[in-house]
Amino acid sequence: MSSITISEEKLSNYINGEWVNGEGKRYTPVINPANSETIVEVPLSTVNDVDNAVKSAKTAQKEWALVPAPQRAEILYHVGYLMKERKERLSQLLTMENGKVIEEARGEVQEGIDMAFYMAGEGRRLFGQTTPSELKDKFAMSVRAPVGVVGIITPWNFPIAIATWKSFPAIVAGNTVVWKPATETPLMAFELAKIFEEAGLPKGVLNVVFGSGSEVGEAMVHHHDIRVISFTGSNDVGRNIAGECGKQLKKVSLEMGGKNAVIVMDDADLGLAVEGILWSAFGTSGQRCTACSRVIVHENVKERLEERLLVEMEKLTIGNGLDETIKVGPIINTGAIEKIKQYIEIGKEEGANLLAGGYVLDEGEKANGNYFAPTLFTDVTPSMRIAQEEIFGPVVSLIPVKSFDEAIEVNNNVEYGLSSSIFTRDVNRVFAAQRDLDTGIVYVNAGTTGAEIHLPFGGTKGTGNGHRDSGLAALDVFTEWKSVYVDYSGKLQRAQIDVE
Ligand code: NDP
Repeated sequence: MSSITISEEKLSNYINGEWVNGEGKRYTPVINPANSETIVEVPLSTVNDVDNAVKSAKTAQKEWALVPAPQRAEILYHVGYLMKERKERLSQLLTMENGKVIEEARGEVQEGIDMAFYMAGEGRRLFGQTTPSELKDKFAMSVRAPVGVVGIITPWNFPIAIATWKSFPAIVAGNTVVWKPATETPLMAFELAKIFEEAGLPKGVLNVVFGSGSEVGEAMVHHHDIRVISFTGSNDVGRNIAGECGKQLKKVSLEMGGKNAVIVMDDADLGLAVEGILWSAFGTSGQRCTACSRVIVHENVKERLEERLLVEMEKLTIGNGLDETIKVGPIINTGAIEKIKQYIEIGKEEGANLLAGGYVLDEGEKANGNYFAPTLFTDVTPSMRIAQEEIFGPVVSLIPVKSFDEAIEVNNNVEYGLSSSIFTRDVNRVFAAQRDLDTGIVYVNAGTTGAEIHLPFGGTKGTGNGHRDSGLAALDVFTEWKSVYVDYSGKLQRAQIDVE
């Protein structure tokens, strides 16, 4: 199905501009979730490997911060062009390691390319502010300064897009990076590091250390010389990272789980709503942080929506994502399949009505991979666990409501606050909804997915801690504001005291 080859049998870390073996010389296989074949082996690095990467990043940072930002940006432009050139290779490798269908993999790689050009443009901006001083003959401005060495920890579900959201702004702003990708999806990190090397990035500016969260990830979080941690992943891990960073007064940016809803009002274009739900709920097999896992539907259109969803769900083709005709790929691993199965049982026990799916697909070639049937529960009440907890699979719960106000309340009544959407043709409801939906991202007449890289990305409440990836907001994570006062009066002027 794919003609892409990987020359390495074992991946290496990228530290100080060199490809080096993990100190512990232990490896773990990277498994293709579509067929359980081993693609490559990835090092399980040690605390010492992290220390070497941080040393290299710390040494490189002094020089890198002195390179004019437009020159730093030139490298990002180069990275963008190389990614563009290799888009098909990257996309196929991404499908192999993660399972998402090739069309979506191409979309994800494109997101990385867009981010490269967008952040390269920042090399000629990185705007600060000038402002009048309260004193005569005095100049006041604030500028963005790099933080230093940044630690980036990324999940398996968007292994290249999320990495670019974090590393590109960090690098253009004059920081150096130590990056730990998810162990399940190391190929994107390997390929991106190769691209940076080819683009001429000075040694030590980007370091990639493969290995487990409990060893490599924790070593990064504990390392005194890493001054900011940017993490995307699960809430349990994020919470622990925040606790440790809090103790060290280390800056930390967290992007975590979601329980995203599509609201369908009684005046909605139902055909459009069905398309939006299918794309948001079953794309990436429901393993997007922005996946729609709740549909809050007005009771007047509930039955019609159910019928239309069932018809369209029947048409979804499921299988190896490298096959262009497939719409839903595999689930990342068997542990995730077990978690989804547990939630199916929980839903049934809670009294939800299982309308479609709810089982593992293991016939024919699917027996070798991790496949789960797209699943629809209806008559779900807002307090059920399947309506509250992140399942991270192709499972949707339909929650009927009687009014717009109730729909908003149900949407907001969860621990998370990443993305929400409303289908309606009423302009008053549109504006009220964008004001009242308590999520970091709101869509109108579209599903819960499809973020564009020049807007901030992240969530409220339990989804994050107030920071954002992507957009200009990402620069706030990777820079410190420095206020600079230049007094050219030739005498000592005291602010707040010598004001005439
Ligand atoms: P995890 O939290 O399990 O892993 C994320 C990353 O953290 C991986 O690199 C992992 O390493 C690492 N890690 C694990 N344990 C530790 C630790 N103790 N210290 C430091 N790092 C650690 O999440 P998943 O990979 O399972 O990703 C799915 C989750 O990510 C979902 O909850 C999803 O909603 C969320 N997500 C949020 C997004 C957002 O922007 N809000 C976007 C995408 C996903 P290892 O690979 O070794 O396990």
